[in-house]
Amino acid sequence: MPTKSRRVAVIGAGAAGLVAARELHREGHAVVVFERGNQVGGTWVYTPQVEPDPLGLDPTRPIVFSSLYSSLRTNLPRECMGFRDYPFIVRQDEERDPRRFPGHREVLMYLKDFATEFGIEEMVRFETEVVKVGMAGNGKWKVRSKRSSDEINVGFDDEIYDAVVVCNGHFTEPHIASIPGINLWPGKQLHSHNYRVPDPFRDQVVILIGSSASAVDISRDIAGVAKEVHVASRSVADETYMKQPGYDNMWCHSMIECVCEDGTLIFRNGKGILADVIMHCTGYEYHFPFLETNGTVSVDDNRVDPLYKHTFPPTLAPWLSFIGIPRKIIPFPVFELQSKWVAGVLSGRIMLPSQEEMMEDVKAFYSTIGASGIPKQYTHFMDEAQFEYCNWLAAQCECSGYEKWREQIFRAGRKNRRVRPETFRDEWDDHDLVLRRHEEFTKYTS
Ligand code: FAD
Repeated sequence: MPTKSRRVAVIGAGAAGLVAARELHREGHAVVVFERGNQVGGTWVYTPQVEPDPLGLDPTRPIVFSSLYSSLRTNLPRECMGFRDYPFIVRQDEERDPRRFPGHREVLMYLKDFATEFGIEEMVRFETEVVKVGMAGNGKWKVRSKRSSDEINVGFDDEIYDAVVVCNGHFTEPHIASIPGINLWPGKQLHSHNYRVPDPFRDQVVILIGSSASAVDISRDIAGVAKEVHVASRSVADETYMKQPGYDNMWCHSMIECVCEDGTLIFRNGKGILADVIMHCTGYEYHFPFLETNGTVSVDDNRVDPLYKHTFPPTLAPWLSFIGIPRKIIPFPVFELQSKWVAGVLSGRIMLPSQEEMMEDVKAFYSTIGASGIPKQYTHFMDEAQFEYCNWLAAQCECSGYEKWREQIFRAGRKNRRVRPETFRDEWDDHDLVLRRHEEFTKYTS
């Protein structure tokens, strides 16, 4: 079938933007990647800087993009994390981190290696922020960008593209828990987006809200210096109150009931604690400040609506697409398959259903999750569903499906984390699976 080459703008040079650029280029499209930062890697570019507004509520605040903390090690094993045809192997270089769950710098190095290997940096315009994406007529898009070096003499570039692929990440715009009485509470508050190191919390009484991987890591980080750490979680029973095993200064509670002017917090379990700091480890919101679609695409209660298979808004498909919206996934291989699909659809090699059929599919999906009692804010959470999703994408692209071994390692890792919550990054039982993977990966190094 004859295929067409399109002029495509990719927004962001994180893991999603990099693999999108590679797949679009492989398919024969002309690709420009816009990246506001000065290097590839997105989230994995650690900075000690934090935002001046520690809760991230002020929409005019200067944005610090990454949410990484200094001590962060991956929460997925490296064999699982890598792209499908570019495994995250151990590099024989003393500058590199060979651990199975490496520190954040190693992931950045891996993404840089990936960009170099596939010549992606040549497609990237660094320090160039997309400030507006709007419809230009004839189904094309007008992309307005600004170079950060133009800060004083602000000049914008307007260009026309056939298609826009949004890969701007979704771990920068904080979601804050609402707490009765918080406006009068005298202590300090911050979101985990602005947490880097434990030192500022020395000898303090710190309350963390949340039960995600970040909340677990940060509570351990801070417990080493803080006077007390209290973790409030909405996913436990109201009466929950227990000392964290292995710690003499950390307790787990149910959610905060209210806070008082004298600095006290009351938990649903009835306990009252006089605290210095509340840290919201309460996740992030999808945010597309540059996107103008006349209301066709909106974000409501953290649902990006409507998106066919979490990727294409039906009435704007295939000229607008999103890579990286799914959550609770093994991100890089999902991004890779989404990118192959988008690239193939744009060239005309892969067909989409009609707009009406795509919209029906979106509605049916909303009904299914609604009937299962899944709240709207979890629309893009996949977890176990990611394997079926990836196999569906792979079938569209006529490429091999999700690797069984990746699924097995993922499951073994999850079990190990439950069994060894403190040491899962350094001790495990699935040695045979890991060994087989390393043998398989040697074909990429030999
Ligand atoms: P990002 O990495 O966020 O990249 C988006 C890029 O878009 C950035 O470079 C940004 O500068 C650019 N951008 C945004 N807006 C614009 C604009 N308007 N104009 C131009 N450029 C723009 N994943 C794992 O696989 N394993 C882990 O262990 C893991 N741990 C994590 C821990 C934390 C604390 C966080 C926050 C995430 C973690 N993740 C982990 C998930 C991680 O986000 C993904 O792995 C992946 O890096 C996301 O890639 P992305 O390209 O979608 O977004």
